[in-house]
Amino acid sequence: MATVKLTDVKKIYDNKVVAVHEFNLEIKDKEFVVFVGPSGCGKSTTLRMIAGLEDISEGTIEIDGKVVNDLQPRDRDIAMVFQNYALYPHLTVFENMAFPLRLRRFPVEVEGEPAEGEKEPVENKEGEEDSKEKKIQYVKLSQDEIYKRVTEAAEILGITEYLTRKPRALSGGQRQRVAIGRAMVRESKVFLMDEPLSNLDAKLRNQMRAEIIMLRQKIDSTFVYVTHDQTEAMTLGDRIVIMKDGFIQQVGTPNEVFEMPDNLFVAEFIGAPKMNIIHTELVNEGGKYSVVPYGTKIPVDGYKGELLASKNVESQQILLGVRPEHIVLTAKSNPAAIPCTIQVNEMMGSELHLHVVTDQGGEQLIVRVPTIDLTPAQRAAMVSGAKVFITFEGKVMHFFNKETEISLITDNENVPVATHKDETDDVVKEEQPAKKSLFAKFRKNKGE
Ligand code: ADP
Ligand code: MG
Repeated sequence: MATVKLTDVKKIYDNKVVAVHEFNLEIKDKEFVVFVGPSGCGKSTTLRMIAGLEDISEGTIEIDGKVVNDLQPRDRDIAMVFQNYALYPHLTVFENMAFPLRLRRFPVEVEGEPAEGEKEPVENKEGEEDSKEKKIQYVKLSQDEIYKRVTEAAEILGITEYLTRKPRALSGGQRQRVAIGRAMVRESKVFLMDEPLSNLDAKLRNQMRAEIIMLRQKIDSTFVYVTHDQTEAMTLGDRIVIMKDGFIQQVGTPNEVFEMPDNLFVAEFIGAPKMNIIHTELVNEGGKYSVVPYGTKIPVDGYKGELLASKNVESQQILLGVRPEHIVLTAKSNPAAIPCTIQVNEMMGSELHLHVVTDQGGEQLIVRVPTIDLTPAQRAAMVSGAKVFITFEGKVMHFFNKETEISLITDNENVPVATHKDETDDVVKEEQPAKKSLFAKFRKNKGE
C-alpha cells in the first residue's frame, strides 16, 4: 500500500518565485501518475517536495495516510531517478546498483527498545496499529540480501549479462537501465522519476518508454513520473496532471484530457500537431447549435450539441478547437465545405500534414490526411497552391470561452482561467507571456 496525497501544497522559493500553487492531488496505490507541462511549470519542484528534497511552504503531503512534511527523505520510503543520473565510472554495474544499499541503513520498526546489536528487521503485521513501543531502528542489509536485490532487479531490467561491466562499456539505454535499477533495489513504496528519458535519442526514448510500461507491471509500486513530453505522458500515465505556471490545469486519464480538455491550454498541449484554434461564433437557435468558421455554417450535431444544450450555452464569440486529424477533405458541393489553399504538404508516410490557408480570413490550419484514403492521382494533386475543401463534424469540436479560455462544456468548476489574478503570481507571469501573444495573433488576423 502506498498512496500519496498532496493538500494545498505551495512552494515559494527564496527569490519569491511561486513555483507551485495550491497543489491538490490524491494518487492511488500502484497508480502511475504523470506530471506534464512546459519547462518551469513546477513539475520537478512538486516531485522534489514529495521526495523531501525540497521543503514545502504551505500544505501537507501524506504518504500512506501519514503526514511526511517533516520526515527526512530517507524516512519516506521513496526511490527517485533523475534526468542526470550519474553512474560511478570506476564501479561495475553490480556495484553501482549495490552502492545505495551498502551506503545506507534502512529504517525498520521494532518493538520496544532495540536490543544491543539487533539487526533483524521486524515485520509490521497487516492492520496492526502503531503502538508507542514501536521504534524506528536503522539496520544494514546483509550481503545475501544485497546480492538478491541487485540480481533480481538486473533480471527484470535485462542487464544481468552486464553486471560485471563498467558503465563506459554500456550503451546510453543500458546505462539508463542501471540508473533505474539503482532506484529499484531499494524496493520503495513510491517510485519518483524526473524526466528519466530526456537525455536519450528519439529511438532509444521510444524503446525505454515501452520498457518502463513493462517495468511498471513487474514492480509493485506507486509511480510519479515527470516529463515535458505529452507523448510520454499519454502513453505512460494512468492519469495525467497537466501543469502550467505552477497551477494544475487538469487531471484526467489520457482519454479524458484528449477528448474533453478543460481549457485551451490543455487542448493545445495534448496532441501533435497541436489543435487548430478558430476564432468564430457559436450560434444557438432554439437549442440547435452551429458554428460559422470562415463564413461556412457547420451544425454542431451529435453529443457535443447535446452537451451545449444541456448547459444552455448562449450564442457568443468563441475559440473553436479542432484537431488536425479530425478535419477531413470534402467536395466543393458540401454546404459545410471550407475553401482553402494548400501552402505546404508534409509527407509523413502514413499521412499527409497539409498546411492550408483559408480563403476567407487567411488563417493557417493543419490537416492530417491518411494517405491510404487518397488515390495516387489525388496524392499527386496535393501540391502547394492547390485548392482543397475541408470540413469537420460537431463531435470533434471543442468550444472555449474567448476571455477565460475555459471549455464551455466542462463539468469541472475549478478550471484555472488563462490569466491568473493571484498577485503573488507576478514574477511567474512576467516570465511567461505566451497567452498574450496568442491573443495578439488573433487580433492581427482579425485586423483589430
Ligand atoms: P519544471 O520541472 O516544470 O521545469 P521547476 O519545478 O524546476 O519546473 O521550476 C518551477 C519554477 O521554480 C521555475 O520558475 C524555476 O525557475 C523556479 N525554481 C526552481 N528551482 C528553484 C530554486 N532552487 N530557486 C529559485 N527558483 C527555482
Ligand atoms: Mg524539471
